[in-house]
Amino acid sequence: KPTIVLVGRPNVGKSTLFNRLTRTRDALVADQPGLTRDRHYGIGRVGERDYLVVDTAGFDPVAKEGIVHEMARQAEQAIAEADVLLFLVDGRAGRTPHDEQIAARLRRAGRPVHLVVNKAEGLDRAIVAADFHALGLGDPLPVSAAHGDGIKQLVEIALEPFPADEGEAAEDEGPKVAIVGRPNVGKSTLVNTLLGEERVIAFDMPGTTRDAIAIPFERGGKRYTLIDTAGLRRRGKVFEAVEKFSVIKTLQAIQEANVIVLVLDAAQDISDQDAHIAGFALEAGRALVVGINKWDAVDDYQRDRLKADIARKLAFLGFARFHQISALRSQGIGGLLKSVDAAYAAATANLATPRLTRTLQQAVARQAPPRHGMARPKMRYAHQGGMNPPVIVIHGNALESIPTSYVRYLERCFMDAFKLQGTPLRIQFRTTH
Ligand code: GDP
Repeated sequence: KPTIVLVGRPNVGKSTLFNRLTRTRDALVADQPGLTRDRHYGIGRVGERDYLVVDTAGFDPVAKEGIVHEMARQAEQAIAEADVLLFLVDGRAGRTPHDEQIAARLRRAGRPVHLVVNKAEGLDRAIVAADFHALGLGDPLPVSAAHGDGIKQLVEIALEPFPADEGEAAEDEGPKVAIVGRPNVGKSTLVNTLLGEERVIAFDMPGTTRDAIAIPFERGGKRYTLIDTAGLRRRGKVFEAVEKFSVIKTLQAIQEANVIVLVLDAAQDISDQDAHIAGFALEAGRALVVGINKWDAVDDYQRDRLKADIARKLAFLGFARFHQISALRSQGIGGLLKSVDAAYAAATANLATPRLTRTLQQAVARQAPPRHGMARPKMRYAHQGGMNPPVIVIHGNALESIPTSYVRYLERCFMDAFKLQGTPLRIQFRTTH
């Protein structure tokens, strides 16, 4: 899936554009209690297509030290990992020397760059074009991130070179699994434990490190495909990561996979980075299993402390199973994979309309949706609208005002009735007039 990276000096409107591109249609996902969202990474959608959006806030190509330098370094990494770059400039302020510095950097990026003139509402296009043409990045595309003008065309132009996905992998390939987590939690160790004694099916190494590799393997008679996040290379019998941890690679792998294994380090507190990765997996609607690794290395005090920390900071992962594992000693790995199987089965389950509708009616009989002023919501029937994650579409009248708490209640009813373990669920309402 393509990655669009937003570049530009401060105040040109990068975060406004970012918010417009990533404003998820499933606003309810954003309302999950406890869910922190990393505001620099998000998922955009056009039609049925997803893409990753990265905002390089505070990009200053000349800073040599301090926090600004660190941000510039991260922006450099984002540029290196981008599929396409959107270079934002401010149509009202006109071309500035800072824009010229960034343009000079981007002309060497070796990636498609689109020059985007923001705040262009009401401006004379010919004058704007003449001014910014001097940046040497082709014809500028005028947009208004704040008003939404020109955004759809912009995304279409940016994504044009990337063909849409051709459906899911063949079924007997098994689930695509991504093992993700922050540095040093034990991801490589887990990969080697998983692949070590198992039959790794021959696969092609991509020519460039930019492409993620997919490693098919078999375990317990079942097939899986591992989506790599760290540029794994095989050296003798073991795999090792040849690249540094990369947030963008992690997010790309999450989008690519069917099931995410989030690895936590039992000896450490839950960090913002853990929560961000988990939140992104939820936003992407992926099935998820959590492996609390290095369980062998912690005492009872640390275990209790960690449990409390998880309950507080990862409350939004209520749908997922947590496993205590030791990748190093190969403990708990079988159980972890069983949950991967269950999560994949749940994420791709067929939910029959009659049973969905019966479950809906029972849920309403037990607890009716609250009235909203004069409106009395009436839910008539439900059908499945998608897989991975399962989408349940509920038809009825006056459904616009159903509160989030009631949606959560319905989610739990469907989860219980269909024994859906390990996948988030999406509920959509269709009002028939
Ligand atoms: P990655 O950066 O997430 O791939 O982490 P690594 O797999 O490189 O592991 C980081 C460190 O943690 C290494 O020193 C491992 O030996 C150690 N480690 C990994 N898994 C375990 C485990 O289950 N128990 C213990 N005690 N140490 C582990």
